[in-house]
Amino acid sequence: MSFAPIDVFEQIINKEIPADIVMETDTVIAFRDINPKAKTHVLIVPKENFVTLNEIRRDNVEQFGKLLLVATQVAEMEGLDGYKLHMNVGEAGGQIIPHVHLHLLSKEFKTSL
Ligand code: AMP
Repeated sequence: MSFAPIDVFEQIINKEIPADIVMETDTVIAFRDINPKAKTHVLIVPKENFVTLNEIRRDNVEQFGKLLLVATQVAEMEGLDGYKLHMNVGEAGGQIIPHVHLHLLSKEFKTSL
């Protein structure tokens, strides 16, 4: 697996391409996955352009922590009782889009991400 040549999430953040946005704050955007692997499959993305989780540092940890906060808010909004959070990290970890994102999936998800 290798990174896509274009950061489509940056284009969604900049409203250059459409997305089904479910939540947006000053630092995070959450939108439905275009190829959902579960009834509810939302991607939670920091607006700052971190490529992978490996860019987390003491001075930016809050940016990453906000992804978890938004995840709980989206889950509540979607009426999810339980859910799964998943993150692919790096090309070798199966990450395709070169922009950090958290997958929020309702619990019946069945295929690998
Ligand atoms: P990953 O393998 O973790 O990088 O996952 C990338 C995810 O982004 C996949 O589940 C894709 O279906 C999803 N995706 C790609 N392009 C778009 C798009 N334009 N809008 C919404 N989701 C997308």
